Amino acid sequence: MRNLPYARQDISQDDVDAVVRVLRSDWLTQGPVIGQFEDAVAAYCGARYASAVCNATAALHLACRALDLGAGDLLWTSPNTFVASANCALYCGASVDFVDIDPRTYNLSVDELATKLVRAEKIGRLPKIVVAVHFAGQPCDMEAIGALARRYGFAVIEDASHAIGARESMAAVGSCSHSDVTVFSFHPVKILTTGEGGMLLTNRAEIDAKVKLLRSHGITRDPSLMDEPSHGPWYYQQTELGYNYRITDIQAALGLSQLARLDAFVGRRRMLARNYDLLCGGLPIVLPYQQANVQPSWHLYVVRVPGDGRRTRNEVVANLRENGILVNVHYIPVHTQPYYRKLGFQVGDFPEAERYYDEAISLPMFFGLSEADQDRVAGQLRNILS
Ligand SMILES: *Cc1c(COP(=O)(O)O)cnc(C)c1O
Repeated sequence: MRNLPYARQDISQDDVDAVVRVLRSDWLTQGPVIGQFEDAVAAYCGARYASAVCNATAALHLACRALDLGAGDLLWTSPNTFVASANCALYCGASVDFVDIDPRTYNLSVDELATKLVRAEKIGRLPKIVVAVHFAGQPCDMEAIGALARRYGFAVIEDASHAIGARESMAAVGSCSHSDVTVFSFHPVKILTTGEGGMLLTNRAEIDAKVKLLRSHGITRDPSLMDEPSHGPWYYQQTELGYNYRITDIQAALGLSQLARLDAFVGRRRMLARNYDLLCGGLPIVLPYQQANVQPSWHLYVVRVPGDGRRTRNEVVANLRENGILVNVHYIPVHTQPYYRKLGFQVGDFPEAERYYDEAISLPMFFGLSEADQDRVAGQLRNILS
């Protein structure tokens, strides 16, 4: 029987043709397709501006730079995320702290956030940025987080690496209605792919301008953005310390072609999630929580195996993997990573995220997964657990 990964891309003949067209064109990078891809994602999400970059990690870094995060500043995020959601602060010389998760959605808990803000205000250590991660494609309560942002004066970045195509109260994730910036990842395990790639969306013109400058060395060729007069048509001017975080036209062509299938990708994932709910309903495991007014994108379908610490979960993972079902675990709480422990964090600091980690399993979830594959996964779970 074939191995079932937890995630994989789906590449169509149209995707291949779109990439080949760019390979035969005049520009492999910095050509016309990047702008078309940006405009299409911005239109899909209902955001004013979009900037495609080489990956979501770079996008998070640029978002922090554009929001002026620097030494002495604080960024807060969820411990239940990929390390990049926190590392972006350290790149800027700022510090990181975490807000423990909601035991049902596994997103950063808005109650914990509110409590922590009260304490932080008293001691004068409010965050400059909060990174809200839409874990597994379940949108955070952005209205509540946006209200806290206005009350306490912090900026909000949505790390929507899992959540392109998700909706909250009918608004598409990426509209930035309650945030300053939204970031998407186009890594092959995510909802849609460009190989490597990422995008930043914003409704704020000054953030968009800064991101577009910083993604290409802090260099401009636009005389209206220069600090000093142009020397001539060859002239460019560096006005900031930027990076080479550009995406290529080759990648943008793949992304634009994949975007045409985004609704199909997410629709299929929603069907697969409902089917897992039915197949796993009777098992002694905790299924994903369904929030009201939310349509997740289902990047991950996570079940929890309650047990004594990690032992039961580890046995289930080992058994599934021995049977070719290559499940994964998302996420090792960031504060428990050795690098973060060296910064002063300890096991025990964020108990809800740690308890969750001990019990979580990400079942196979991708566009090409069949109902027969799901029967196999659920059947194996039934064998182990009953
Ligand atoms: C994948 C991921 C990232 C990083 O994305 P890259 O495009 O690989 O840099 C950041 N945050 C979260 C939550 C992710 O899942």
